[in-house]
Amino acid sequence: MIRINENFDKLQASYLFSEIARRVREYQATGPARSIIRLGIGDVTEPLPPACIAALHRAVDELAVSSSFRGYGPEQGYDFLREAIARADFQARGAAIDADEIFVSDGAKCDTANIQELFDRRIKIAIPDPVYPVYVDTNVMAGRTGSARGGRYSGLVYLPCTARNGFVPSPPRRAVDLIYLCYPNNPTGATATREQLQAWVDYARTNRALILFDAAYEAFIRDPALPHSIYEVDGAQEVAIEFRSFSKTAGFTGTRCAFTVVPKRCLAYTAAGAARPLHPLWNRRHTTKFNGVSYPVQRAAEAVYSDEGQAQIRALNDGYLGNAAVIRQTMRQLGFKVAGGENSPYIWVRTGCDSWSFFDRLLKEAQIVTTPGAGFGRCGEGYIRISAFNRRDTVEEAMERLRRIAL
Ligand code: PLP
Repeated sequence: MIRINENFDKLQASYLFSEIARRVREYQATGPARSIIRLGIGDVTEPLPPACIAALHRAVDELAVSSSFRGYGPEQGYDFLREAIARADFQARGAAIDADEIFVSDGAKCDTANIQELFDRRIKIAIPDPVYPVYVDTNVMAGRTGSARGGRYSGLVYLPCTARNGFVPSPPRRAVDLIYLCYPNNPTGATATREQLQAWVDYARTNRALILFDAAYEAFIRDPALPHSIYEVDGAQEVAIEFRSFSKTAGFTGTRCAFTVVPKRCLAYTAAGAARPLHPLWNRRHTTKFNGVSYPVQRAAEAVYSDEGQAQIRALNDGYLGNAAVIRQTMRQLGFKVAGGENSPYIWVRTGCDSWSFFDRLLKEAQIVTTPGAGFGRCGEGYIRISAFNRRDTVEEAMERLRRIAL
């Protein structure tokens, strides 16, 4: 008898964005002509940078000619891209990461979801609350939790991220084995200072734990005092894996390219306490289950690191950050407490009522889609996330609508 993985039954009823889509669909059906503004899901709206488009075209032409045709590439990514990443994203910031510590992939979602395969089923996992749901759900599927009650799974250690701690949790008193951190944060828009990351790295070293650091929104950091990578912090290479993505950095959400950094010094342990480097394990997993990102897409990602590519992504993301500033300012003027929106494309707004009611109100009274904070965890209750990924005129129109309804 073929049996299902019953851990899937523990997953909570609906994935956040499907529930949002359902409510929007039902509302739209009551008035098809309504113009709905989407400031919910974190998808980009602007076209790919011209440097990436030119690189894509060139690479496609290469594939049309037998002398430059390429079939399967290296599963870990082409050297031209891995070297460009290592130089620009790490070595230039004083982090000694080598090209062969970088694994190119088709998304930070897949990588943050798949990485848990390297670890024992019985490890203790610390999860921020609120959180990007992928970290939790993939561990539920893998059987590392009990069932959910009141929005929380037994077996996980939750790290509340609240206004009180500036949405950056301190390490817990008890020992955990695996810690998920994401800065700049989705959903709160918070950023972590070097000192805060150092405290986590020190904790991980003391407890022989591992940090999974999701830096998908790194490109939005403008404050020169903030670290862009966890490897800017002393000792991080032994205790942290970092995830990056071209999705938000360069508008690749539909094009698909990302990478994971597994330093060769990064360790985990056998049941007997023997230290084992994680690099060969991830290499084995990656090469067994993944066959590489397409050549044109890797050439497009490489173009991000050219002088023109850098100028173009800076302008692109400055545009989104400008939207974030408009949203922040409007919500403040309307009397709301807001976090995020600086060094981050997300604005975290305290609603003064429950998240889904506020979501429904904005949808029905202003035809604006946001994301209810409660969907990201219990500590997200009473907040909504507003995304700055949109065109400026659309954001301005949305803010105008909010001013018109007496919020
Ligand atoms: N990590 C975080 C925190 C995200 O918010 C997202 C997408 O919204 C991802 C990863 C997914 O990135 P990718 O498009 O590379 O799969």
